[in-house]
Amino acid sequence: MFKIASRMALLGTESAFEVLARAGELARQGRSIINLGIGQPDFPTPPHIVEAGRKVLSDGHHGYTPANGILPLREAVAADIAARRGVEVSPEDIVVVPGGKVTMAFAMLMFGEEGAEILCPDPGFPIYQSVVRFSGAKPVPYPLHEANGFSFSADEVLEKITPRTRLLIVNSPANPTGGVVPKAELDRLVAGLERHPQVAVLSDEIYARMVYGNQAHASLLPYEAIRDRLILLDGWSKTYAMTGWRLGWGLWPKGLAELATRLAINVHSCVNAPTQFAGLAALTGPQDSVDRMMRAFEERRRLIVGALNRLPGFRCVDPGGAFYAFPNIAATGFSARELQDRLLEEAGVATIAGTSFGEMGEGYIRFSYANSSENISEAIRRIGDWLGSGVRPQRPIMMQTA
Ligand code: PLP
Repeated sequence: MFKIASRMALLGTESAFEVLARAGELARQGRSIINLGIGQPDFPTPPHIVEAGRKVLSDGHHGYTPANGILPLREAVAADIAARRGVEVSPEDIVVVPGGKVTMAFAMLMFGEEGAEILCPDPGFPIYQSVVRFSGAKPVPYPLHEANGFSFSADEVLEKITPRTRLLIVNSPANPTGGVVPKAELDRLVAGLERHPQVAVLSDEIYARMVYGNQAHASLLPYEAIRDRLILLDGWSKTYAMTGWRLGWGLWPKGLAELATRLAINVHSCVNAPTQFAGLAALTGPQDSVDRMMRAFEERRRLIVGALNRLPGFRCVDPGGAFYAFPNIAATGFSARELQDRLLEEAGVATIAGTSFGEMGEGYIRFSYANSSENISEAIRRIGDWLGSGVRPQRPIMMQTA
């Protein structure tokens, strides 16, 4: 019998993909399922971007590219960073990878090992804790608070730093909460980090363009005090509706881009050429489709938050960014997992239990509003009818609802 490495038991998963599979199965059995589970724009990739990818294939670009990405693409990323985050960076420090997740995994593999601690938001993107564990390091969760619009408190984050802390992960706007960390809180965090020069920071800004109302996205890049230890993660998946193309970028501190490139050479060699040229067209071409998509998300956000707040036992703060609503469902008496399962099986609505994003997600479920207004309204109507039909929790949970 073969024996696999024990570290494989440490890998977690992303429930969104499991819920997606179950929703597909139910749909194949003829059930009507509305999927508010998976986090990807429901819009197609804008046509000029698709065309750029198609043309590259017809033009015969079928071979490897440089492992860190074609130079014009890294130059376009640097120009975009200068325009949107106001900081001049070198294309040499940028590594283009197959999706935002890859920058994340590379950062964990670079900093994580037995004995090391990595600070992760909770509730947060589940892959953070999963890959931290896989690296041998210990994930140390820090809480995000509903009362603060799911921002963190800088003091609470800083308190968790120990001599073993190697890396701090920050995600704003955030998955699963839609929370946006106010600039004043980032100021406090950076001021505190000056006392801990051994702690590197991974800022996951994949939802940077998706900020609503009068909020502005505050990047960690402009802070000089941590520039030499900041890894910035962003990409094309969400902004340009390109989740299936697999394209992301990381901006690395001096010297680390070479290590990220070495990891790339060992793992995937390079991102395929058509995707990179499509990404170039996305950054350098018209941005009106991004603006249109954002207007649609803004409208749906208003619709879903209002509707969720009218459901009995639900309470939903205004998410400042991304395309997720994260209502508190504690007053329904259902645990997050039971509500997720029964909404899918009995009401035909796919959502994700808050506990898929960490222990502090109990009492919440995530709705992705990357779906049409009609589907969102119908989903909430189904949930309202289901809740009103006398359903009772099979596994009641005692939670504070305050
Ligand atoms: N970071 C966060 C917070 C996300 O929510 C996601 C995707 O859901 C990613 C990174 C990964 O994006 P990609 O599909 O580009 O790998």
